[in-house]
Amino acid sequence: MTAQLIDGKALSQQLRADVKARADQLKAKGIVPGLAVVLVGDNQASQVYVRNKVKSCEECGFHSVLEKYDANMTEAELLARVEALNNDPSIHGILVQLPLPKHIDDHKVIEAISPSKDVDGFHVASAGALMVGEVGFKACTPYGCMKMLESIGMKDLRGKHAVVIGRSNIVGKPMAMMLLAANATVTITHSGTADLAAMTRQADIIVAAVGKLNVLTADMVKPGAVVIDVGMNRNAEGKLCGDVDFDGVKEVAGYITPVPGGVGPMTITMLMVNTLESAERA
Ligand code: NAP
Repeated sequence: MTAQLIDGKALSQQLRADVKARADQLKAKGIVPGLAVVLVGDNQASQVYVRNKVKSCEECGFHSVLEKYDANMTEAELLARVEALNNDPSIHGILVQLPLPKHIDDHKVIEAISPSKDVDGFHVASAGALMVGEVGFKACTPYGCMKMLESIGMKDLRGKHAVVIGRSNIVGKPMAMMLLAANATVTITHSGTADLAAMTRQADIIVAAVGKLNVLTADMVKPGAVVIDVGMNRNAEGKLCGDVDFDGVKEVAGYITPVPGGVGPMTITMLMVNTLESAERA
């Protein structure tokens, strides 16, 4: 079998066209969706991510503010900036790029963001809303994965078994909650799972969110399964790769997401969706 590709880039373009159209409608009413991106320090990868986020805002017709600070910024100074953005009516979404320098407590900063502007979906209030099925911002990466499933006709996952590899607060856990909300039967696996392959072989849907090359190989996949690769790694040649052995798994899976061009573009797109929805609510 050769799996069909779920093209995150193409799906993103479709979704962003809709975001832009909705943003134009808001603008006609005098509201321009606004996103503030805050970067502290000079982490190379973070600089690329924030540039892409600002560029996406421009493409969607949003107002965006990029605040860059020196790595020596104190926690108190950063908290004061977050508070100012919370009170700025032109800003509907606030994103503080992680990781922060070691002397700043990530959790404290995320909790300082108003839940009404938490477009990354990392605030405890957003995680709690997802847990109990209330309205709140959904974490962008798993939200994008759900849209990818929807794009292949998998919206109601009743009767499907989903296995999530990884249990981080930003990907694995919210992913599992979203799959559960869509009626899948969900197994969460992690570094303490005894026999990962025994779990993944039962899965109709596998989401790999680990950050290690070749965590999922062809022998671990049921024929026809849907495989979503969240991982971002570099191989020995420095090429961007996911967690999935793409060449092997594509011969067994029914659908597969590529890296690059899969979950990555969807994550930024869902950030745009969350920012737009925040502006619509405002
Ligand atoms: P993380 O916080 O490091 O979590 C990794 C998870 O993988 C942990 O729960 C860990 O288990 C589990 N794990 C580690 N080794 C394992 C193994 N051998 N078998 C099963 N589980 C294992 O990472 P993250 O933030 O969730 O990110 C995961 C990956 O996704 C990274 O490559 C990251 O760069 C990528 N990512 C991509 C996007 C995107 O937009 N494409 C967005 C976010 C993240 P324990 O909990 O037991 O340690």
